[in-house]
This record gives sequence, C-alpha cells and structure tokens, in this order.
Amino acid sequence: MHVQIVSFRRAQVFKSLHNTGRHLTNVTFAKPSNRDRPMKHILLASTLLLAACSQAETTADAAEPNPQAAAETPSKPNITSQDLGGGFHILVGPGGNIGVSTGADGVYMIDDKFARFGQEIIDVVATLSDKPITYVLNTHHHGDHSGANVEMKAVGATVVAHDNVRARMGISYMNEAFGRQQDARPAGLWPTLTFSEELTLWFNGDEVRTIHTPAGHTDGDTIVHFVEANIVHLGDNFFNGSLPFVDVDSGGTIQGMINAQQIAYDLSNDATRVIPGHGALSTKAELRASIKRLQAIHDRVKARKDAGESLEAIVAADPLADMTELEGFMKKGDVIKATWRSLDSK
Ligand SMILES: [Zn+2]
Repeated sequence: MHVQIVSFRRAQVFKSLHNTGRHLTNVTFAKPSNRDRPMKHILLASTLLLAACSQAETTADAAEPNPQAAAETPSKPNITSQDLGGGFHILVGPGGNIGVSTGADGVYMIDDKFARFGQEIIDVVATLSDKPITYVLNTHHHGDHSGANVEMKAVGATVVAHDNVRARMGISYMNEAFGRQQDARPAGLWPTLTFSEELTLWFNGDEVRTIHTPAGHTDGDTIVHFVEANIVHLGDNFFNGSLPFVDVDSGGTIQGMINAQQIAYDLSNDATRVIPGHGALSTKAELRASIKRLQAIHDRVKARKDAGESLEAIVAADPLADMTELEGFMKKGDVIKATWRSLDSK
C-alpha cells in the first residue's frame, strides 16, 4: 500500500521529552488550517486504502483505515444502538464503538466515528435522550473516533481528550506502517478541553473516571470508567476478536497496550461491561485472554529479536501462527513489525 500526499506544508521539527506518554516526539508540525475541511490533496492510493476509506470526504477521515469499512452501506441506517441499561447505550457501525451515557445532566458520549455520520449519530442519540450532547470524549486522535467533532461542537458539545490528542491533530507526520503522510487536521476538529493524566466528571449520577494510558495504541489514549454503571471503554487499546493495532508512528507501544488493558482489567469485575474500540461488547474474562495474547506476541517477537533474528526472518518464521484466525484489519506480519518497532521505542 502506498499513498502520497502531494501537497504538504512543513513548519518546524519539534522534539520533546520521550516516553512520558504526554509529550510528542520527533514529529513534524504543520501550520494549522482554520478551514473546516483540509485542502484537497491528490492521493496516489492503492485500491485497498480507497476501499478502506470509501466515501472518505476528508483526509481527516483517513487518519486510520477503518476496520469495519465493509459493514458500511450507502443508505441508512449505518449506526445502530445497543441498550446496556441504566441509560447507557453503545452505538455500533462503521468506525469506533461509541459509548453514550444519558440522564438528568445530559448526554456524555465517547468517540464520534466519522464526519459523514455526524448527523446520523445526533439523530440516533435524540431517540435515546431529549437532552443535549454535553460532552464528547475522544479516546484518541484517529479519524474513526474523532471525525465528527465539528458536528458535535455545532450542537453544543465540549470535546474532551488527552493533551496529545489535540497536539497530534495539529501535526503532519509520516505513518510508516501504512506508508503515507498523515496531514494535520482542521482546527475545528481539535478538542477544547484537555488533560494530562486523569479527569473525573460527576455526571448523570455516576463517577466518570477518564484515565490516560501512556504509549499504548497511541500516546494519547484514554480509558473511560463509569464506576456506578460498571462499564469501561478502552478505545483502540482493545480490538475485540482481532489482532491489535499498535500505532508506533503515533507513539504507541505493545507494552503500553498491555499496561492499558491491565488497568482496565484491574478496574473490572465479572459483571463489568467492557467496550472495545472495535468489535463486540466484551467481558473481563475476554480482556484477560487478550492480555495473555498481547504478552505472547511481545515475548515471542522479543525473544527472536534478542537472539539476533532480522524482522524479515521473524515474519517468515510465523511465530503468531496460532493467531491466524484473528487476522482482519491487521495481519500477522503487521503486528510483528509494530511489535518489533515498539521494542525499540522504550
Ligand atoms: Zn485508533
């Protein structure tokens, strides 16, 4: 897969503290655009990426190829709700899983998929609550979780995220994993309320703990824990039923992803509803299996790398052969490469 964005403005190279999970490293900043939509770029794209980003009207939407693109249809409904009880729903469909808390205080939403589904999401939420969408939390900066921020702000929502989500939306950087430049995203998409480690919101009778997990899927991930409702949303630190995506080019590491899942595991009990970034609603038991699997991926790649094997040799040896059935958006070779690269970025 090869995509090249022809039009690209550089501003400065910015270096900051590494490995804190709160500071971006070795990234190229581009001058932010005030336009609601980014400049049109000429994309030299493979048919694979075009398929993954079908109907992508903005490069912002292409921030991450969508694992669930195949489910998308040109006609509504693309977004459907699943009732978890107690005023809590998840909205499923193309893009990341949305969590929705409704109650007397209003609507608190986790992630907002793509811009093109903004109005449909708003319409579905209106069937769940007659209150406004007060807050939208972005679990990280990828376009399939934050693409409709403009639409949510337009109906009065405050967009909340970790500091690095806002920082990453303002930069251009090379995504080596997908062989393409990621353009800076329009300022209208950026969160306007950011935090560095943890933020607690008392809302709809619940204690909503918003916890940054350093250097996991990216360097700006957040886990959201609804203490009373006993629900935890992991964003893309957890792909349920498929191989993990560690976005090394956005500061992710496999060890950080293991740590993030462990944090969520420790917050959970057998009755906890565990919401993954992608895939079906899950449980603490499945989270435990996922942690073991991530640890196995880490250990197998590290052992071979420490023994002096090249990346190509490790991929050829197929050390993840027992995980073939979990291939989907991520292939085994992609996972080995990301693991290999993240072992260097500690
Ligand atoms: Zn993601």
